[in-house]
Amino acid sequence: MDANHAARKPKVLRDRSSLLGGDRPSRQEAEAALRTLLRWAGDDPERNGLADTPARVVRAFEEHFAGYAQDPVEILQRTFDETEGYDEMIVLRGIRFESHCEHHMAPIVGRAWVAYVPSGRVVGISKLARVVQAYAKRLQIQEKMTAQIANTINDVLKPHGVGVIIKAEHHCMSTRGVHKHDADMVTSRMLGCFRDNPMTRQEFLAIAN
Ligand SMILES: [Zn+2]
Repeated sequence: MDANHAARKPKVLRDRSSLLGGDRPSRQEAEAALRTLLRWAGDDPERNGLADTPARVVRAFEEHFAGYAQDPVEILQRTFDETEGYDEMIVLRGIRFESHCEHHMAPIVGRAWVAYVPSGRVVGISKLARVVQAYAKRLQIQEKMTAQIANTINDVLKPHGVGVIIKAEHHCMSTRGVHKHDADMVTSRMLGCFRDNPMTRQEFLAIAN
């Protein structure tokens, strides 16, 4: 039995942006708000085709914004230290994510490359993907999400360094406003040896390109 199957600690929410502890509106209030938006758009929320739409959209919101109930620090708590002194780069490549921009609530669809050089402690590789999802399933800007992922891994694992690269298409740009298609936005955050050691940085950039 490995450490992953050991008893889990109760979830502790540390992120102050989480709504779950506060005065969260009810599902009925959320659905009523959507009926208002449908009326404002010029349609009749009571007609057959739209009757169940507010409930569906609220369920979609639960999926899109599931990250507010997830604690990335908690996800990284369980680490392994029997690594035979492994101290080379660990990279999870091309983690697909869907997020939503906090300015237009339009989809941001992209991939993340997450790397670190451990200092004794490593995590199960799926945990890196879960940290990406926990931050993606919130209202975001790509720059902030990139920094949050890198900072959290750095703070919890205390590795020699962390590198995060995110490439994403922003639907608020491709389907409205300036209507620019096929434009990717690339952001990165390099900490520790990824910032200070050109060889480590180059190795990671080569993997991500
Ligand atoms: Zn936007």
